[in-house]
Amino acid sequence: MSVIGDNIDAYCLKCKLVLAHVILLKVGGAVNKVKCNTCGAQHKYRAKMPAAKKSAVSRPPTLKETIAKRAAAAKVEANNAPMQWDIRNRSMDRLTSVKDYSIHSQYRARDVVNHHVFGLGFVERIVSDKSMDVLFSDAVKLMAMNIS
Ligand SMILES: [Zn+2]
Repeated sequence: MSVIGDNIDAYCLKCKLVLAHVILLKVGGAVNKVKCNTCGAQHKYRAKMPAAKKSAVSRPPTLKETIAKRAAAAKVEANNAPMQWDIRNRSMDRLTSVKDYSIHSQYRARDVVNHHVFGLGFVERIVSDKSMDVLFSDAVKLMAMNIS
């Protein structure tokens, strides 16, 4: 039977581990208050990690997490840019003039641009007077244009 001043294994909320503690108080024969030998914190005696913390690990995903997960999956599915780009590249009229991409220039849908990093790109959509979606070989990228 342990008495006050004895060592006892208890869960420390600060260290978040079951560690050796010193019994400070006993109520009705049960250990009530302990002091952590590691960090010195005094707290109520808990033999092990609180159940609430444990179940938090295996809880079902929240709605927000589910949506984020689905959005990520949808993004992967939607990224068929390489295939689309390949089709465009093959079917492109070889006489089409390819413009060197510059943020200062203005483009229109269906223009073909050449970007110094991303390579050949097809202007898919004019998003605003200063931006456009361009299909490059790896992805559709939002590109700036018409910037003075
Ligand atoms: Zn501790």
